Amino acid sequence: MTGLIERYRARLPVSADTPVVTLGEGSTPLLPAPRLGAELGVELYLKVEGANPTGSFKDRGMTLAVTKAVEEGSTAVICASTGNTSASAAAYAARAGLRCAVVVPEGRIALGKLAQAQASGARVVQIAGGFDEALTAVRALCERQPITLVNNLNPYRLEGQKTASFEICEELGDAPDWLCIPVGNGGNITAYWKGFEEALASGEARRPPALLACQARGAASLLRGPLDRPETVATAIRIGRPVRREEALDALSRSEGRAVALEDRQILDAFRRLPAAEGVFCEPASAASFAGLVQARADGTIPEGARVVCVLTGHGLKDPDTAIGEAERPRRCGATLAEIEQAVLAG
Ligand SMILES: *Cc1c(COP(=O)(O)O)cnc(C)c1O
Repeated sequence: MTGLIERYRARLPVSADTPVVTLGEGSTPLLPAPRLGAELGVELYLKVEGANPTGSFKDRGMTLAVTKAVEEGSTAVICASTGNTSASAAAYAARAGLRCAVVVPEGRIALGKLAQAQASGARVVQIAGGFDEALTAVRALCERQPITLVNNLNPYRLEGQKTASFEICEELGDAPDWLCIPVGNGGNITAYWKGFEEALASGEARRPPALLACQARGAASLLRGPLDRPETVATAIRIGRPVRREEALDALSRSEGRAVALEDRQILDAFRRLPAAEGVFCEPASAASFAGLVQARADGTIPEGARVVCVLTGHGLKDPDTAIGEAERPRRCGATLAEIEQAVLAG
């Protein structure tokens, strides 16, 4: 099993002596989604980033951020997080033998992500505030202490994350017409754009994709400007002041793409449709990419027949509470064959 640093060594800032910290991330499925594609009149693919070792695309950036932290002699890493960055940082730090602290918003982090950070032995600090406050504090702390910041302000994160675009271009033989992607802090869309630009320069793509930046209306920082009280069921993108906002907007305009703001209801509909129609269970923030596609087809932004990739950023098991809340309740019955038969078959 090779990780993405081995796979893309020549295109990443590493040398032959760099001590690679990997959990076997990257090389995730680009899955055709024929049923949903036919419904929407597009050629649809899902980039299943939940297949990464800790269940989100954050692993692509973290393998390189932690590798470089080790190379530079660091012994501790820290991040602010809506959840997935903390799960990833904790796992890669454990693998490398570094100490790790994660600062998260109290009560607003999905259960699976918290469990992961704790399982890997990170010091988990929950603050009475949101992600934006957590990040401000963590940045200041890194000025005072010899701790490496592994939020996406860390440039190695984006370098690792850009490899997803390489994989897509390799599999499709070109960039797609549209790439639909959820946007929180703006790091991933910035990294994808960088990856596509590099693929263009090396001839692996003939033309760039248009980017569809998908946000929840309650956290639509790209369309509405920075927000003080972001709110959405999609906790991974519940960010009001994205650190990479200018770069995300720049990628959008250069790709001739668009930003969309989605109601939570639209996001939850997409969240239910993806596993029901295609068997791919992702978390609510990830489903925003598909919800954005649905809206962009309805208003004609994305034309019929377009080749579209939706980036499904994190695994559905990350947020079991939302999944169970959205699901039908299980049928209950006694343990006899007659009762079970009735429960299985009754309409
Ligand atoms: C981090 C994250 C995002 C947002 O990515 P940014 O780089 O912050 O824009 C989207 N979905 C999931 C599941 C995430 O963990």
